[in-house]
Amino acid sequence: MIDLRSDTVTRPSSAMLDAMMAAETGDDVYRDDPTVNALEAEAARLSGKEAALFFPTGTQANLVALLSHCQRGEEYIVGQQAHNYKYEAGGAAVLGSIQPQPILAAEDGTLPLADVAAAIKPDDIHFARTRLLSLENTHHGKVLPLAYLEQAWQFTREHKLALHIDGARIFNAVVAQNTTLEKIACYCDTLTICLSKGLGTPVGSLLCGDAAYIEQARRWRKMTGGGMRQAGILAAAGLYALQHNVARLQDDHDNAAWLGEQLQALGVTVVSQQTNMLFVQVPPQQVEGLKAWLKARDVLISVGPVTRIVTHLDVSRDDLAQLVSHWQAFLQQA
Ligand SMILES: *Cc1c(COP(=O)(O)O)cnc(C)c1O
Repeated sequence: MIDLRSDTVTRPSSAMLDAMMAAETGDDVYRDDPTVNALEAEAARLSGKEAALFFPTGTQANLVALLSHCQRGEEYIVGQQAHNYKYEAGGAAVLGSIQPQPILAAEDGTLPLADVAAAIKPDDIHFARTRLLSLENTHHGKVLPLAYLEQAWQFTREHKLALHIDGARIFNAVVAQNTTLEKIACYCDTLTICLSKGLGTPVGSLLCGDAAYIEQARRWRKMTGGGMRQAGILAAAGLYALQHNVARLQDDHDNAAWLGEQLQALGVTVVSQQTNMLFVQVPPQQVEGLKAWLKARDVLISVGPVTRIVTHLDVSRDDLAQLVSHWQAFLQQA
């Protein structure tokens, strides 16, 4: 199987499994798990924040981030297509009585600050209190420019808002911009990171922020059922990933760019490609046929009028060359 639906499908390598097998563990609810503590310390160090907290999923990390920033009746400004607005089952509203204020992202994945300013509510009993700006980096594969992040940071200081980055794929941005996590994270108060996508762990996410904030988040994590016990087995995979799987994200970016060129040469229209996500157009009448054609050849892709193809550590250049030849054969018979 060649699975290009998402980078969440990556499996732990045998070296990662060895690291998990060798993990020292304790009870993390008592803060006794040395491997979880080491992972949280490493995430804090890399992000330049005071503290970090380990979660089973990015959805829970984002939920707890919002619960720790906003009280009931408060709101966060967020992208219309952002994961922590659209793809987390409305958790902040359901569980936190926190109101999202979604706005449209620009073509480059940024939230235009003039639009953010217009969405901030005045201090008036009619309105929810605006507390937080939530950005996503990368946003559908797009890297937020550092100059924008700096402006957003200044903007939130002037407007007394907190700034959260959903950095599920932040390391793709780090690699694409040839920078460090700290140089991105200095423009936010808090940051979530997924270990289970391109970094290749079976599960795990992190929330980074200042020590007082992370203490609050620890309580919310417990309340939402995220206090894990011998989680060092999972944290060991995270430590392994941070050591071995960050720099190699460049291969995924190069593979996505290469695949875009190959498909373009077949006459396929490329919508965009940045980092490890390639978006191409598939004529509506070809969607069902292409999906079945590729599936019959052991290639899994979420085919649609705009088809998202995600490269990751379990997909090689040879796999992609196979996909190109299957796609070409499909077009020849279509
Ligand atoms: C995947 C993802 C998350 C978290 O997803 P989980 O599957 O819950 O780990 C959060 N934000 C973005 C942008 C994501 O892509």
